[in-house]
Amino acid sequence: MRFTSNMAQIIDGKNMANQIHSELCKELSQFVAEGNPVPHLTAIIVGEDPASQKYVEKKTEACKKIGIRSRTIVLPESTTQAELLDVIDKQNKDESVNGVLVQLPVPAHIDERTVCNAIIAAKDVDGFNEINIGRLALDMNGIVPATPLGVKTLLERTNIPTFGRNAVVVGRSKNVGLPLSILLHSDGSHATKGLDATVTICHRYTPAKELAKYCRQADIIVVAVGKPGLITKDMVKPGACVIDVGITRVQDEAGKYKLVGDVDFDEVRQVAGHITPVPGGVGPMTVAMLMQNTILAAKKQAADRAN
Ligand code: NAP
Repeated sequence: MRFTSNMAQIIDGKNMANQIHSELCKELSQFVAEGNPVPHLTAIIVGEDPASQKYVEKKTEACKKIGIRSRTIVLPESTTQAELLDVIDKQNKDESVNGVLVQLPVPAHIDERTVCNAIIAAKDVDGFNEINIGRLALDMNGIVPATPLGVKTLLERTNIPTFGRNAVVVGRSKNVGLPLSILLHSDGSHATKGLDATVTICHRYTPAKELAKYCRQADIIVVAVGKPGLITKDMVKPGACVIDVGITRVQDEAGKYKLVGDVDFDEVRQVAGHITPVPGGVGPMTVAMLMQNTILAAKKQAADRAN
């Protein structure tokens, strides 16, 4: 007797990210063998937020694995905006540095948008500079934010059909929800190779009933909110692909901390066709795309120098 499971296929982001790391490792070796300097990433952290430290640690570990040089600059919480902008400026001007990122969030006395715009577009490996976001909105080549690019890559490498399909993006932040919705709806024949889906964007002011209605119509649901349990089984069309970007640190019954997403995973996996876990879904793909962006930035800078 054969038993078949109706459970969703779990998209293993960790495994996919490892595969991408080995592809990037080969790409980098070839770039260096051609006489180019080893790509170099600078990460800047302001303050002592343990989550930010952990994220930067993961990024520098990935650099090491792939062969990218990395440096982390840790600045005290009391750093002024002017002091931070000065550190960024030095990295912008340092020709040995190919990529610069400031781990977000920055302390409240520093304006995040000013900081994102201060990193020159060519070295903005997080893709948050207004030039890179603007280029993405206009379907022009640039550096695409790592998390949205990670979601796009997850969908593509899992062969999830998107052309003409209905997608819902829950969350409209400038760093995640907005660029994600651009990648999902934009034209696949243009430079950014969008996914040609019909996209609905939901946010804090989308009434819960409407959110459920839009989600139920979706072939693809991508949630980037930070509210555990927001997406429940009754909101998901059977067979839909559910991508969970959310990360929230919660305590379990035993008082142990764990990371959870925005989707009620155990319930939703009973109806969805595909689903990403948290952790092990979008998170590792974000790191892999940051590595990809760093190599892309180094290659573009080398080509510009040669011209
Ligand atoms: P954010 O800036 O706080 O944005 C959250 C978005 O969710 C906002 O657009 C907000 O709407 C919307 N929202 C809030 N409550 C909602 C509700 N009840 N229904 C629908 N939408 C609602 O956060 P973010 O930076 O985009 O990050 C979102 C989540 O993804 C967080 O949990 C973060 O930790 C996680 N994240 C994960 C990765 C990864 O690699 N896996 C990377 C980045 C972020 P308004 O705009 O109206 O306020």
